[in-house]
Amino acid sequence: MAFASVASLFERKRVEEALHQAQAELAHANRVTTAGQLAASISHEVAQPVAASVTNANAALRWLAGEPPNLEEARQALSRILRDGKRAGEIIGRIRALVRKEPPRKDQFDINDTILEVIALTRIELHRNGLSPQTRLADGLPPVQGDRIQLQQVILNLILNAVEAMSGPGSEPRDLLITTEKDEASGVRVAVRDSGTGLSPESVDRLFDAFYTTKTDGMGMGLSICRSIVEAHGGRVWVTANQPRGAVFQFSLPGEEETAA
Ligand code: ADP
Repeated sequence: MAFASVASLFERKRVEEALHQAQAELAHANRVTTAGQLAASISHEVAQPVAASVTNANAALRWLAGEPPNLEEARQALSRILRDGKRAGEIIGRIRALVRKEPPRKDQFDINDTILEVIALTRIELHRNGLSPQTRLADGLPPVQGDRIQLQQVILNLILNAVEAMSGPGSEPRDLLITTEKDEASGVRVAVRDSGTGLSPESVDRLFDAFYTTKTDGMGMGLSICRSIVEAHGGRVWVTANQPRGAVFQFSLPGEEETAA
């Protein structure tokens, strides 16, 4: 998942606010990933505020070099550097907590509520991009047990990937549909369908590999982290083609009865 490039799709400040919480939780979510994946993910998370700080520092220097210097603009650029520096610090702080090996969480929660929370987090930004996510959420699903924040991260990654896949021309109408249903083995199944670029046969086997990306600014970590999280919850994740175009990313999780068994 390339947060930076999604951010450029949206009005930057708003999306930063909306995603801040979820992004900051990524370190926590990454508990289940391998050390290599974790290192890559950390550099990705920290690189973004650092790059923004460099841009803002350049801007501040330009405002100060003006005749006369524009102190107000320079002040604003410095405030942004301060904010981004704090954010990078927070991410590092969370990674420290992570290395201390907190015990895995075992919340019990409703997957539909979790999905609606993620949609609420992204809805304004999706609307601005001409996207209104549709949902078809099944009633009477068994509760899921595990780390709610990690599973929100999975859903968020899948939604933002779908948005990216539909950001180019030729994706209209842009359809984003999120569904839940009961899975055969008394669990739940979540599907995120888009009408975007879709999948090429040669890439389909590699999408979930760490560092596999087709984006110029991608890290190729999003789906790999999704898979780690889902598998750590006893589930699996897969992708198929959508009709007439686009992709369907799905994951299944054992329901509470099964987990308890
Ligand atoms: P990144 O977004 O940084 O590339 P991901 O692991 O999230 O990393 O995705 C890996 C690759 O999978 C992407 O570069 C893209 O080629 C493909 N992909 C992911 N989601 C979709 C989607 N909804 N539609 C088409 N291709 C996708």
